[in-house]
Amino acid sequence: MPKTRKAIYPGTFDPITNGHLDIIGRAGELFDEVIVAVATNSSKSPLFNEMERMELCKAAIAEVMPSAKNISVDSFEGLLVDYAREQKAIAIVRGLRVLSDFEYEFQMALMNRKLEDITTVFLMPNEKYTYLNSTIIREIAKYGSDISGFVPECVRKELEEKFKKN
Ligand code: ADP
Repeated sequence: MPKTRKAIYPGTFDPITNGHLDIIGRAGELFDEVIVAVATNSSKSPLFNEMERMELCKAAIAEVMPSAKNISVDSFEGLLVDYAREQKAIAIVRGLRVLSDFEYEFQMALMNRKLEDITTVFLMPNEKYTYLNSTIIREIAKYGSDISGFVPECVRKELEEKFKKN
């Protein structure tokens, strides 16, 4: 049987945005299987906890690409290369938006290749998402502005709830 070509798309996803979903869709067309891997040991202190971030990723994928059967959501702790080896992944997927992403991503990709000889594949989102990141979305939502063009409906609702409670 031919080998399943599996890729991992790691990130904080706090929360998942239309930019992330654009990358997931592209990766889903390139690989047999894509695991959206929510990082749980990030040094950042996320707004949404691990379970919430995973649930939002699942709900967003179901909402935006209901027919995609080769995408799953998981979480991981520790080194990404260890997780990639456990999963028998052949590639790590990362999104490249602007030049400022490049330096950090380049360094990580080379280090990961050194540690585990794993390839990182960079995908560019549709240009309308290049200015989008989770930090900006959280900031806009916090002050009650409309984020409906930037995140799926399920994420918009959860953000609204979160800031109502806070
Ligand atoms: P991290 O904390 O690892 O940066 P993120 O959840 O912010 O995690 O992002 C995960 C990946 O998705 C990164 O490769 C990031 O560059 C990419 N990404 C984030 N936002 C976008 C976007 N709007 N378009 C394309 N890629 C994106």
